[in-house]
Amino acid sequence: MPNCTTFLDITARTSTQPALVVPSRGEAYTAADLLDRVNRIGNGLLDLGITAGDRVCIYLDSSPEYLVSYFAVWRIGAVAVPTNRVYRESELLYAVKDAGAAAVITDTPGSASVAAIRSDAPALRQVVAVGGGEGAVSWDDLLTSSPHLRAAHCRFDDLCQIQYTSGTTGRPKGAMLTHGNWIAAMDAERDVLGLTAADVYLGIYPMGHVGVSWGIAALRAGGTYVTMERFDLDAYLDLAGRYRATVVAGMPPVIHSLLRTPPGTEEQLASARAMISGGGPLAPEIWKEFHERFGIPIVNAYGLSETIVVGTGTAIRPEHYATADEFRSVGTPVGFSEVKIVDESDPGRELSPGETGEIALRGPAVAAGYWQMPAETAEVFLPDGWFLTGDIGYLDDAGMLSITDRKKDMIVMSGWKIYPTEVENVLLQHPGIRDAAVFGCSDEHRGEVPVAAVVPEGNTLPPEAVVAYAKERLAGYKVPRTVLIVDELPRVNGWKILRKVLREQFCPG
Ligand code: ATP
Repeated sequence: MPNCTTFLDITARTSTQPALVVPSRGEAYTAADLLDRVNRIGNGLLDLGITAGDRVCIYLDSSPEYLVSYFAVWRIGAVAVPTNRVYRESELLYAVKDAGAAAVITDTPGSASVAAIRSDAPALRQVVAVGGGEGAVSWDDLLTSSPHLRAAHCRFDDLCQIQYTSGTTGRPKGAMLTHGNWIAAMDAERDVLGLTAADVYLGIYPMGHVGVSWGIAALRAGGTYVTMERFDLDAYLDLAGRYRATVVAGMPPVIHSLLRTPPGTEEQLASARAMISGGGPLAPEIWKEFHERFGIPIVNAYGLSETIVVGTGTAIRPEHYATADEFRSVGTPVGFSEVKIVDESDPGRELSPGETGEIALRGPAVAAGYWQMPAETAEVFLPDGWFLTGDIGYLDDAGMLSITDRKKDMIVMSGWKIYPTEVENVLLQHPGIRDAAVFGCSDEHRGEVPVAAVVPEGNTLPPEAVVAYAKERLAGYKVPRTVLIVDELPRVNGWKILRKVLREQFCPG
């Protein structure tokens, strides 16, 4: 049987070129440096009694230790449970308890969140602290373990990760990812971006999210992964210029902010041959404006935690730009992925090009199901391998996929379907609006009504002006019935809009 994560074997890489760069800490690691740490931490975990199949929660800032923890856990055949430092106490507790984690690796051993899991998570046996801490095993001590790893043997389908969805639509579900899923995802991402050893990837996605896979794919291709602990636009531009990043990670709010930077910013991104966008819808107007100003093709990548982003998903890639100029789609399936559109209420019925329905994906990176949630698993992981994404979209005649919205975010008012993304895209065109979110509030007579929360750009913005603007550009039923002016929108990691929080906060009753 092969060693666990043979695919991550970077031993063959003897290059002195940095594999991982952490500018905020002035640190750079070659592949050999990383591997040495991975092996030592792996052995250290084995010595602590953590063995194959045990779940190990990672609760760290995005950092070299985060990456080393993933690889070490995978290589000993244990199961990584990545979380994020922005998790609230209840979220961390939920993940640790739900996964039955035997250990947690953290850099805040004294925090209230870690205290909560120590007292309330019965399966927890070890706390490993980066930087040390009372009652915890020090990371540095683990680093003194032998560098000759007693690596475990794994099967392709063995579990290596429980990835909790960010819970933008409900209770987090633990997607069960396998070694095979990761192998497929790594190959797919390398192919989408055409990654080689010459690439420098500037990553911004939190390491607790499957978006980290882009960085791992760059590293595995022999390139360099430059990572940021936290996103900051000026630092991002500075790093892109300084390290001559060839591929830069982005997301819709980042791309939106880049358009508001003064002339000259283009030079800092001059080495970039691709900008990744994913995780949420990119307004076509913003996409087009970015393309015109920066001339960098956006790789609009579509996937979910359950598919290790585009491991099984779709993407619009640089080569599409020769033929497509609509700046709206998420492209065609990647690698061995398949996509189809099915009837929302009858998943067995496939729809034709042009018809809108639920997006279904099939391929080698589709998770093995949800951890300890058989009913939820059966609902969306179908026996024939298709996974129902909960996203609404359509395929065009050329096989390009467009996403309309998420099923759960769709607002149904007196039988009319309203897609929040479409309304938000219109509102974002208003020069006085910096950010916008549209959500449905229940209404006694009409079922639901659309409500908008908008963040003004600079001066005051009368809600009536927003309504008037929307009325000129949208069918009457799509116009928000109420417009709320807010200071900021609740987002996951400054990223996805948390519509459920807005509904709780602003919907009456
Ligand atoms: P939860 O499933 O618990 O609500 P989540 O939204 O954070 O959590 P993720 O797996 O991180 O779960 O996000 C996947 C979703 O992000 C997709 O279902 C889709 O709605 C959206 N998405 C991802 N990429 C794109 C894209 N390129 N364009 C539009 N939407 C996207």
